[in-house]
Amino acid sequence: MHEMALAESVLDLVENAARADGARRITCIRLEIGALASVVPEALRFCFDAVVRGSLADGARLEIVETPGSAWCFRCAATVPIASLADACPRCAGAQLAPSGGSAMRVMDIEVD
Ligand SMILES: [Zn+2]
Repeated sequence: MHEMALAESVLDLVENAARADGARRITCIRLEIGALASVVPEALRFCFDAVVRGSLADGARLEIVETPGSAWCFRCAATVPIASLADACPRCAGAQLAPSGGSAMRVMDIEVD
């Protein structure tokens, strides 16, 4: 399950940020997950609960903000919304799409004590 590796890398990132801040504990983590990032938010949440035990983020609230996917359609010469990388263009049904948004996962911010 790749969500476990993702949860661990998110934890590394936020723990380093919290330590650099001199924080004792992380109370909230806001994560942005794009619709095209191939991350299942519920699976990530489950893994996160497991990896944070005993860390600075033990008991932290995990807020997940899901952002929609979009792609550039060469035929329409326009940005169109898509829900997955396997989708065709909703306007022309063409497959010449280049994902342009919603393909990333990132930590937006954290709250510390
Ligand atoms: Zn199109």
